[in-house]
Amino acid sequence: MPGFEWIDEEEKNAVASVFDEGGVLFAHGFDKVRKKYHVREFENKFCDLFGISRALAVTSGTAAIKIGLKSLGVNKGDEVITQAFNFVATIEAILDCGAKPIICNVNETLNMDPLDLENKISDKTKAIIPVHMLGVSAEMDEILNISKNYKLPILEDNCEAIGAKYKNKYLGTIGDVGILSFDQGKMIATGEGGMILTNNNELDNYCRQYHDHGHENNPNFPRGRDTHKIYGFNYRMTEMQAAVGKVQLNKLSKMLVENKNRAKKLNEILINKYEFRSIPKNSVPTWDTVIINVENLKHREKIVKILNADGFGTKNLPDAMEWHCAYYWDHALDSAQISNSLLTKKILEKTIAIPIWLKKTVNDYEKLGKKLLEL
Ligand SMILES: *Cc1c(COP(=O)(O)O)cnc(C)c1O
Repeated sequence: MPGFEWIDEEEKNAVASVFDEGGVLFAHGFDKVRKKYHVREFENKFCDLFGISRALAVTSGTAAIKIGLKSLGVNKGDEVITQAFNFVATIEAILDCGAKPIICNVNETLNMDPLDLENKISDKTKAIIPVHMLGVSAEMDEILNISKNYKLPILEDNCEAIGAKYKNKYLGTIGDVGILSFDQGKMIATGEGGMILTNNNELDNYCRQYHDHGHENNPNFPRGRDTHKIYGFNYRMTEMQAAVGKVQLNKLSKMLVENKNRAKKLNEILINKYEFRSIPKNSVPTWDTVIINVENLKHREKIVKILNADGFGTKNLPDAMEWHCAYYWDHALDSAQISNSLLTKKILEKTIAIPIWLKKTVNDYEKLGKKLLEL
């Protein structure tokens, strides 16, 4: 979440530098005019930091999911399983490939329930999309086991947990394909933008061609005579976005530390009074959100009132429940998927998400914690 809070002169200067270094705003070609390739540098920085062989920058996280699914061969008639606590983008990407979204419930981690995942597999299933919601990993060992047993690829939607880890690996580098988003609400903000991560060169080649009208970037031909085998679309990131993204990525490790300081303070104060979201073993969250479970309606109302009055807000839960729970998406899902999502709705109705803001201090969180303790 906090990327946009730390946008300052550095990002401003990075954008200005694009204009000073030849003024090419486009990621491809114009080799004689330009001094820099910001999009390619942004991708390489992700490869280095995340320890992954290929990264492809695109226009949005939603576009990245769609392109990733296409690279896995998802097509008309296929089913793709994803979870009921989610963002509607994942469903849209599945539908845009002509496939059918199948909704799996979440468990107390608020991410994909591996037991329910196995129930939802059919002979039409083509891929699985676990979504690491609000900074926390899904139970990846269990999900990977199922994916191996049924020979189904995994696309990790890691739009909401950039920098979080599972068993020492960055989320987004565990499945066959990993997706990041850099929209204004994410850990790294470039206004709009997304990234596709993979260690599979064939998948990366497909994505790279598809996001750029099928261009193969054949070194033996100029761009105007480039070769192509597939048709694609235009999902290219601009140089300005990547220039901002590179600066933001440099701030990531510091943001994670600052998040943790604030979240730990809340945790410390509230641990004996409130039940927290359960975090999978061997995982490290981004700590950009702390989620507590409170069933009593009056008690919930009091907490939400304080969070709003003191300028914290409640982020997705309960503020934006309708955009994050599949139960409400009858414009996109069939009635079977809506009823599949009822259990998740019930789990989410107990939760309150407390956002961690970098503009607020550890002391602010201490004060908040003490207020919530008194309720
Ligand atoms: C933000 C988000 C997306 C979409 O990313 P955009 O860059 O806004 O298109 C997809 N999935 C999840 C879980 C998200 O939070």
